[in-house]
Amino acid sequence: MFDASLKYGILGMARSGIAAAYKIRELGGNAFLSDLQSRDKIASADQLCQDFDCEFGGHTDKLLECDTWIVSPGIPLNAPIIQKGKAAGIKMISEIEFGWQIKAEDSVVIAVTGSNGKSTTASLIYHILCESGKKCILAGNIGDAFCGFPIHQPGIEYIVLEISSFQLDLIQSFAPHVAILLNISPDHLNRYNGFADYCASKMNIFRYQSPQDFAILHLDSPEITRRDGNLKAWKLYFSLNAINAPAHLDGKFIVMGDNRLSIYDLPIMGPHNQLNTMAALLCMQALEQDISSSMKAVKSFRSLPHRLEYVDSVNGVSFYNDSKATNTDSVRSALTSFDKPIRIILGGSDKGEDYSEITDDLQQHAIRAYITGDSRYKMQQAWLGKVPLALVEDFEECIRLALEESTMGDSIVLSPACASFDKFRNFEHRGNTFKEIVRKLKSEKEQA
Ligand code: ADP
Repeated sequence: MFDASLKYGILGMARSGIAAAYKIRELGGNAFLSDLQSRDKIASADQLCQDFDCEFGGHTDKLLECDTWIVSPGIPLNAPIIQKGKAAGIKMISEIEFGWQIKAEDSVVIAVTGSNGKSTTASLIYHILCESGKKCILAGNIGDAFCGFPIHQPGIEYIVLEISSFQLDLIQSFAPHVAILLNISPDHLNRYNGFADYCASKMNIFRYQSPQDFAILHLDSPEITRRDGNLKAWKLYFSLNAINAPAHLDGKFIVMGDNRLSIYDLPIMGPHNQLNTMAALLCMQALEQDISSSMKAVKSFRSLPHRLEYVDSVNGVSFYNDSKATNTDSVRSALTSFDKPIRIILGGSDKGEDYSEITDDLQQHAIRAYITGDSRYKMQQAWLGKVPLALVEDFEECIRLALEESTMGDSIVLSPACASFDKFRNFEHRGNTFKEIVRKLKSEKEQA
């Protein structure tokens, strides 16, 4: 329910904050926008200044005149402005919570979270629903923000949301009908007071659900099963190992009741994507959709770029772009997705993880690790003497060396275990740069 008499403070003029501001305006309310960055750093600053009252280059006490703040997921909760707002008793919510409060009642919300696999699983659910002719949207961390859609108007049957832990930190009533927690592994430890805090934030996705709702959970994850005892929602588990889970793997088949889907029919590779597929199919079960036709729809899904994306082959060496692998667990998925050991390129901007977590996986599944970017010395320290290593500061030189050392039939996989901000704008920029370099190497080899 929207209260147009309230004044909203928008902290952070990025995608979700801007979408919330325009939604508030559309609903006849009042928004004040504030950002730490200077005006020239905000792409749409001129337009925003025409449409709203704005401040740049810092947060002033003007924010304290607002009733509620909508806080960007990019702002850490220990930032001085957040402490100031708390002391002043200001209500703080995320854009996801705001969207939930104003959305039309007839739209069913499906929320997907986890350390890895959110985009893939949310996109797969959206794909299956679209294939069965449902009117649905895919929003949140993927595509447009939740508030960027006409969610306050009736008619959208399903809203599929990809949700990060940061957006779950500031919820007060958000209760998706289907909430999916794919996995929890160390990530964003530079933003939380340790792993337990990060896990608590992920579990928030179930917090306001009722017994009519569904919680879809990964049974093989002790981090999840040790925390899911008190959920109010009906629990549906998926597993690679346990045959009593409602969705599980039996040999080479995903099994749900009498329905079976061969893993060879999956358009996305690796055991982690079998889990993502099970989670998506359990979502269909919760929504009372036909499972057999949902399994059929899975086959026509196309994998997203930058997630174990096949790029090309150069002199019989295959290149894969897994730039979205920004933590060790996603690198583990890459390592276990190939039939034989790979050459893996790692490194970027460090997020506080312990890289020795994947030493064993590298020993088993990597011919050699090529380490680059800002985190290279920390990685070297973790793996020196245990994993065959090459340390190359320059990104392109690193890829060239991996190719020079390869023999026909090898695979070279960019799977960095780090964020991209040391040298790139974002993971897409890093992945696209990788693909360009591969194309360049290919044309060089063809001309040689
Ligand atoms: P997210 O949106 O959570 O970052 P993506 O679907 O974009 O997830 O995938 C990010 C990275 O994690 C990719 O490298 C992908 O191969 C890997 N990944 C995808 N699903 C899983 C999973 N269920 N478990 C572990 N790693 C995964």
